[in-house]
Amino acid sequence: MQPAALLARRRVTIKIGSALLVDGEGRIRRAWLDGLAADIGELARRGSRVIVVTSGAIALGRRALGLPQRALRLEEKQAAAAAGQILLAGAWAESLAGHGLIAAQLLVTLGDTEGRRRYLNARATIETLLKLGAVPVVNENDTVATTEIRYGDNDRLSARVAVMSGAETLVLLSDVDGLYTADPGRDPAARHIPEVGAITAEIEAMATGSGSAVGTGGMASKLVAATIATQSGCAVLLTSGKPDRPLEALRSGARCTVFAARSTPRRARKHWLAATLKPAGRLTVDDGALAALRRGSSLLPAGVAAVEGRFERGDAVLVQNLQGTVVAKGLVAYDAADAERLRGRRTADIEALLGYRGRDEMIHRDDLVLVQAPGEPAGEAAVGTEAP
Ligand code: GLU
Repeated sequence: MQPAALLARRRVTIKIGSALLVDGEGRIRRAWLDGLAADIGELARRGSRVIVVTSGAIALGRRALGLPQRALRLEEKQAAAAAGQILLAGAWAESLAGHGLIAAQLLVTLGDTEGRRRYLNARATIETLLKLGAVPVVNENDTVATTEIRYGDNDRLSARVAVMSGAETLVLLSDVDGLYTADPGRDPAARHIPEVGAITAEIEAMATGSGSAVGTGGMASKLVAATIATQSGCAVLLTSGKPDRPLEALRSGARCTVFAARSTPRRARKHWLAATLKPAGRLTVDDGALAALRRGSSLLPAGVAAVEGRFERGDAVLVQNLQGTVVAKGLVAYDAADAERLRGRRTADIEALLGYRGRDEMIHRDDLVLVQAPGEPAGEAAVGTEAP
């Protein structure tokens, strides 16, 4: 697919590196950000929902706090992130407001995108924001993330966020305009690669160390991001963010590398659900609920006849009919104890029964994969097909 078509997808995640947003003095490059916000406004007008993953907090906070130009200690970095994130979020809110868009800040940690329980929450929030027309502006929560539980670079984070939000395209705005056979700064014979179908060992060997003084991710972390995204059905566009209207430039044919998606986000997610997650319990559903599931609806508490197993919120469970045949698999929105309390009850009663207003569905349809042939024997092998 061409870059212009990839930019016109339903959901597009855009990752911006620190070196583009923050100048050498540690000040925000406001005119450039306004240009990018205009580009984002244009994507939104053309019907795409946009999710931004932005770096720059540490670079901005370093100056704001008067920290020295040497390598910072972890706690200094965290302090810089705390001071810089306010400035960063403020700049985004103002620039996007200039194009009629509401910015909504999300600070996530590795655990929020890797652990299933928190993953579900973060995903639901992004989903709600996108429906409301807001632009999620995401960064790593550097202030609380410690070495062993942090991404450290926003390339990988942006790929996780793109997958989590069901984006079809991830744009990595960088200080390089794509992948080269070697580092073009050092090797004059380096050739630009316009399209990568599969990230092979040969492609990986082309990525050399980081080229930027401000950001943290080099070509290697871009390839890791591209691997995560493309495997989950999200194409990646790697291009230079240096032009004043970088997305406009991309649409008009600026140099870039396209990493083709290996699947669609929906198919990849259903496959992940069906093939990789071990079920921790079973829900038995009545015939009415089963018919609703087959029509593509979510599973509501009212349709659940029995609950088995010890599972936590966000775990995978099998769904079986009254005869005990597995009909679906999904991520359950309640733990086993709460699921038992809600079994057979109306969604309107959830708050009274649990003392909090949980999710309306026991399993949301986006988190559910049906077994294709009704009456197929129970078991993992049967649960390998995509929901209609
Ligand atoms: N989260 C870091 C920041 O906002 C940036 C990480 C990166 O450079 O990729 O400063």
